[in-house]
Amino acid sequence: MTKSATLAAACALAKPSPGACSWCGGPVPKGRRVWCRGRCSTAFWNNHWWPRSRRAAKRRDKYECVRCGQGRPIEVNHITPCLGAHGVVSCAHHLDNLETLCRPCHRVHTAAIVRKS
Ligand SMILES: [Zn+2]
Ligand SMILES: [Zn+2]
Ligand SMILES: [Zn+2]
Repeated sequence: MTKSATLAAACALAKPSPGACSWCGGPVPKGRRVWCRGRCSTAFWNNHWWPRSRRAAKRRDKYECVRCGQGRPIEVNHITPCLGAHGVVSCAHHLDNLETLCRPCHRVHTAAIVRKS
């Protein structure tokens, strides 16, 4: 099993089944191993690898802050903190855990977390 397949097996978004696609559980055509088609591998990486998920989140939010509608400079925030897992392929980067914020809103958000802990 590859590392990504192991992660997909534990992922709440994936519907893997044995011997089939690790993302959607569909049949895997000859010549492919983990994913049945490009769309499944894209979906996986867009939800688990920070450089990809960050880009996908900005595109989803139309490059605007989801709180105040301001564009630029924008940053992508983990709603549930990823605790330094930026360099790791992880379920912390699910798109539903990401929101696009402008820099001031991001600062407010980060300050609120620091106050809580
Ligand atoms: Zn698939
Ligand atoms: Zn904002
Ligand atoms: Zn996941």
